[in-house]
Amino acid sequence: MFNSLVRKRAIKDDSTALRLKYSPYYHHFERQDGCRVWLEGREMIQLSSNDYLGLNQHPKVIEAGQKALKKWGASSTGSRISNGGRAYHQRLEDKLADFLGTQDCHIHAAGYLSCMSSVQGLANRNDIVFADRNIHSSLWSGIGMSRARVEKFSHNNPSSLLRAVELESPKKAKILVFEGVYSMEGHIAPLPEFLEIAKNHDLFTVMDDAHGVGVIGETGRGTTEYFDCVGKVDLICGSLSKALATTGGYVAGDKELLEYMRTHSKQTIFSAAISPAQAAWAEAARELIKAEPEHLTRLINNTKHYKNGLEKLGINTWGSQTAAVPLIVGDRLKAYRIWKELITQGVFTTISLPPSVPPNKELLRTAISAAHTIEDIDLGLDRLATAFNKFR
Ligand code: PMP
Repeated sequence: MFNSLVRKRAIKDDSTALRLKYSPYYHHFERQDGCRVWLEGREMIQLSSNDYLGLNQHPKVIEAGQKALKKWGASSTGSRISNGGRAYHQRLEDKLADFLGTQDCHIHAAGYLSCMSSVQGLANRNDIVFADRNIHSSLWSGIGMSRARVEKFSHNNPSSLLRAVELESPKKAKILVFEGVYSMEGHIAPLPEFLEIAKNHDLFTVMDDAHGVGVIGETGRGTTEYFDCVGKVDLICGSLSKALATTGGYVAGDKELLEYMRTHSKQTIFSAAISPAQAAWAEAARELIKAEPEHLTRLINNTKHYKNGLEKLGINTWGSQTAAVPLIVGDRLKAYRIWKELITQGVFTTISLPPSVPPNKELLRTAISAAHTIEDIDLGLDRLATAFNKFR
């Protein structure tokens, strides 16, 4: 190995030095039981999982996977367009389409692929994409691959979007890309205002609802249900890895749109179909959302309890409106120190720094689950108080 420029850049990067010192990423738990995890033999409260409804270890979810494994084997063995399609893919897609209030749905092996596809599969290089500044990396990747022109607007700000839209020719094809619920911020998009602008200015709408589905709306159908706007967004994309208890992703919309995406999105054409067990877990989770609404009720109550506690502690949660709750630190080194202190005290959170979040929004991402007990949350709050006070 010689001292190449790329090597020097990686080694000299000061955030690499901090990462090596504090080791905040890529941990491997040795055991999990609900919201408790074990790291290096120590039991910890998991305060950053996306298992919002706590269905990951639900007996019916586990049983569904076991049955699918026995019936179909471990793999789909190919891509959907060729040999990988199975009856269970179609069944899950029908159920998700019904749940989301769309005509059709397509599932991918990861939400990242779904969100990329929903933009790259529809946008052309001559189009204009209006993107909320804070959208997920998967959507930026889809925009980049489409080679459409991007106009960013201020996060969750309809006036900023309108100003950007009004500068463009009515003849151009335009796409609005945003999230229903923002994964870091826990903010809910102002969907009715966005839809009004979309209607008046002929915008095609793509909404990533990875953190909304299962979590908001009276029956957990996500951001469209929350605003009574079911059926009004052109494409909804998201992940099966949050409330839906598995891994994989989906794009949902009208039949013609999905047919077009299936033949124009590289992520859809050239990637293998999700495995039998993955599909079965998502299907079981979707059935449980319908049959056992108590999980959503518990999630809502737990989130309220947690946020009340945080407010008493004076910890800034960036106005989170959902179960994704950032704890703003606003300083890189302090964020590392608080994160490490929490690890020492047996609380697992996730550190998030610019460019993943805007400058001065260095944060610890926490998320509440229906699987947390009130005792878990109180213990978490107690330890957060100690850690934040130590480095305030
Ligand atoms: N969109 C959002 C908003 C996400 O938070 C994530 C995952 N963190 C994804 C898309 C990608 O989903 P997956 O992890 O299933 O690839």
